[in-house]
Amino acid sequence: MHPLELSAHLIDNGVSDTPPNRITEELSELADGVALIESFSHVVVVDSGDGLVVFDTSGAKSGPAVVESMRSWTDAPVHTIVYTHGHADHVGGSRSFAADAERRGDPSPQVLGHERLNVRLDRYAYTNGYNQTINMRQFGGAAKASAQLIDRTFVPRGTLRAGVTYDDELSQTIGGVDFVHRHCMGETDDHTWTWIPQHKMISAGDQFIWNFPNCGNPQKVQRYPLEWAESLRAMAAQGAELFVPAHGLPIAGADRIKTCLDTVAETLETLVAQVVDAMNSGATLNDIVHSVSVPAETLELPYLRPMYDEPEFVIRNIWRLYGGWYDGNPARLKPPSDAAIGAEIANLVGGVEHLIERATELSAAGDHRLSCQLIEFAVAAEPELHAVHEARSAIYTARRGAETSLMAKGIYKSAHADSQHALTGEAQKVKMVLSIGED
Ligand SMILES: [Zn+2]
Repeated sequence: MHPLELSAHLIDNGVSDTPPNRITEELSELADGVALIESFSHVVVVDSGDGLVVFDTSGAKSGPAVVESMRSWTDAPVHTIVYTHGHADHVGGSRSFAADAERRGDPSPQVLGHERLNVRLDRYAYTNGYNQTINMRQFGGAAKASAQLIDRTFVPRGTLRAGVTYDDELSQTIGGVDFVHRHCMGETDDHTWTWIPQHKMISAGDQFIWNFPNCGNPQKVQRYPLEWAESLRAMAAQGAELFVPAHGLPIAGADRIKTCLDTVAETLETLVAQVVDAMNSGATLNDIVHSVSVPAETLELPYLRPMYDEPEFVIRNIWRLYGGWYDGNPARLKPPSDAAIGAEIANLVGGVEHLIERATELSAAGDHRLSCQLIEFAVAAEPELHAVHEARSAIYTARRGAETSLMAKGIYKSAHADSQHALTGEAQKVKMVLSIGED
């Protein structure tokens, strides 16, 4: 189905009967001279009449396929690549675009991004092993990244850096088409959304992903929920007829676009207001996590389902943004080691076997939060014990089955893999799950 038809079906009927994030590498024309290649992430191509303006380059793996799709549509050279932000799934495919230009004898494309984008790429190089590890956990459920992977660079060698940068807003005319690039914060601090008046079109990057916003990611740097909402309000006010995000489906029709953007903005604004109100009234982080939530009907909207990130993680992220790391529980200001807590609790209950037994019972009863806490006491007390890892492995498999978000599922799967490794001495074979979301 054409992506615009599919998005209209999902939004207008409020259903989720077809996944909105498709990784087909196929190109669809969205308007005269505008095409979308659905990948991880997508590539949006605008024919300016004087070369192509390309929004994002997809990841390193999908780069060659998206270039091939683009070349099946047009023979025009690439004039400019606009990075919506510096995540690897948006910049990693740039070397395939550079290779395409070289093969054809075209000049190298100009690469544009916000001024913080290259700073981000430098940070990824500085924290390479950490990023490999967390991505293997998030997308693959691995206990840890292999040494071989850590040796590789997270952002692949040959990735083009932004050669043209801007701070707040930049207007360009390329060929016969105007582009107004605007900086915003949200998923990242280096985001660009672009207004293209001739097509009444917005390129939105990851500010809209057809999932609950990636605004709480437990393993990654700070996200900015209120600034995120602000950018969605600005996009909603633009009167766009065509809205193209970097994941999920493009959306056509001014009313439909405005409704979706305002709904996501309002969801984030309400969540921030509830958390900050509670912080202002002296609540602890634990109070807030267990009292603030997003209405279930909101989470059923086809573009707000918590399949990638989830509200509980966003709440913690809001706390981190406006507060400190101290969560309000004085025992956790300067806590004992996990091993000391585990040993003490095991001793109090008369042996680690009681912890294993109770954790297993709680898991069977569906109280996964308490079950996981008890089995972590047990494994901290007796990290070598076979029975602990047998129970722990099963407990995290059950917990993973009860979760919706890829981020929670990935972390629980990695805990399972970790115990399997302790049992068998063999590292689990990991298949990276890249069906939804982004890095
Ligand atoms: Zn992305």
